[in-house]
Amino acid sequence: MAKSPEVKLAVFGRAGVGKSALVVRFLTKRFIWEYDPTLESTYRHQANIDDEMVSMEILDTAGQEDQLQREGNMRWGDGFVLVYDITDRGSFEDVAPLRGMLDEVRRPKLAPVVLVGNKADLEHARQVATEEGERLAADMACAFYECSACAEHAGTGGGVAEAFYELCREVRRR
Ligand code: GDP
Ligand code: MG
Repeated sequence: MAKSPEVKLAVFGRAGVGKSALVVRFLTKRFIWEYDPTLESTYRHQANIDDEMVSMEILDTAGQEDQLQREGNMRWGDGFVLVYDITDRGSFEDVAPLRGMLDEVRRPKLAPVVLVGNKADLEHARQVATEEGERLAADMACAFYECSACAEHAGTGGGVAEAFYELCREVRRR
């Protein structure tokens, strides 16, 4: 049997945006409230995407690593999920510099990314408009999803899984 393609995905974003919650939601379809925020973990996952089995290795970064560690993670990945929290404008403002750092590290290639605005269930506390996320994604020429790690259908852009699947597709297109 043909060996299924393997893609390495790394999840980046300020501490507290919900990276671990999103990864665990994607892997288990469950929401778990508290993770050690200092922990960096990798997970393996297989999924049928467009009739092809894809093996993923997913790196959930801690969001507080030093520059060297972060660069290493940026070299390691084939694709990147850039996450912000729609209730935290600062986390949104962190995204463009992250992208800039990725471009720097990966030059001359442009790394495949998807942009995820998490915590869409917290509409009452929203600080970043959906349109701002869309505009940033357009600037970065990438797909954009607003979603929630704790409510499967919150937000506009489909589920958490769709963001990961789309990133896999983008990686496989290169
Ligand atoms: P990380 O530091 O980016 O890995 O963030 P965590 O996954 O540890 O989440 C930080 C906090 O935000 C935790 O208290 C989570 O329970 C909470 N959280 C994560 N995702 C969501 C979400 O989609 N909605 C809400 N309401 N809370 C979330
Ligand atoms: Mg975490």
